[in-house]
Amino acid sequence: MDQPLLQVDGLQVAYGGIEAVKGVDLEVREGELVSLIGSNGAGKTTTMKAVTGLLPLAGGDIRYRGQSIRGRGAWDLVREGLAMVPEGRGVFARMTIAENLQMGAHIRRDSGGIAADLDKVFAIFPRLKERRAQLAGTLSGGEQQMLAMGRALMSRPRLLLLDEPSMGLSPLMVDKIFEVVREVHAQGVTLLLVEQNASRALQIADRGYVMESGLVTMSGPGRDLLVDPKVRAAYLGE
Ligand code: ATP
Repeated sequence: MDQPLLQVDGLQVAYGGIEAVKGVDLEVREGELVSLIGSNGAGKTTTMKAVTGLLPLAGGDIRYRGQSIRGRGAWDLVREGLAMVPEGRGVFARMTIAENLQMGAHIRRDSGGIAADLDKVFAIFPRLKERRAQLAGTLSGGEQQMLAMGRALMSRPRLLLLDEPSMGLSPLMVDKIFEVVREVHAQGVTLLLVEQNASRALQIADRGYVMESGLVTMSGPGRDLLVDPKVRAAYLGE
């Protein structure tokens, strides 16, 4: 079998002396949508930040396209096609939507490709197109989430990591966000999705991992986890 796009082996990450991630193994294959679920503080965000070069590793290794990326910075990894949409979005509030999207393409020089990708982003998020001259700070939370995803797509990622895209949004907007995550995946982007909304995240996932207290405790196809009694009891409120 060919190598996974992302392979995390025995990952450990600590804050000061406190180990938040204690030996996590996971992989994402080209074209997959993989969801990482688990309760508050389980270490999901920490895992994602280590993968994107935002936190140093205390142990283990991360391989991307077959090569170790241990010690490489976030800036460098974006150039390799690893993009993350952080929790809380981080859009540039005083820039317009169009300017925010342009910022996503700052590492690229192929102006034709950038223009084509902008059209694609606007096709996925028609609301951003309508409002492209508007300041990002005036958008609703859900619209800012869409903008953050659009901006990440403008870097033409090979692997897109989404941290809690549905957090704090109205039920209607949560539906919309999961719909666009599915659409982005359908367009061929490989995705690693961190979510508190376990049910929705597993419904759209090819595979899922469950994290508890810094460790992966379960993994498998999304549909299998969705009907697993332990998952249902712990994360689906049953
Ligand atoms: P959440 O959904 O709440 O973000 P999570 O699964 O993403 O949960 P993390 O944010 O990765 O969990 O947190 C894992 C552990 O690390 C928690 O115990 C948290 O308190 C701790 N932690 C996270 N960030 C820091 C930090 N900057 N300094 C110290 N401890 C931290």
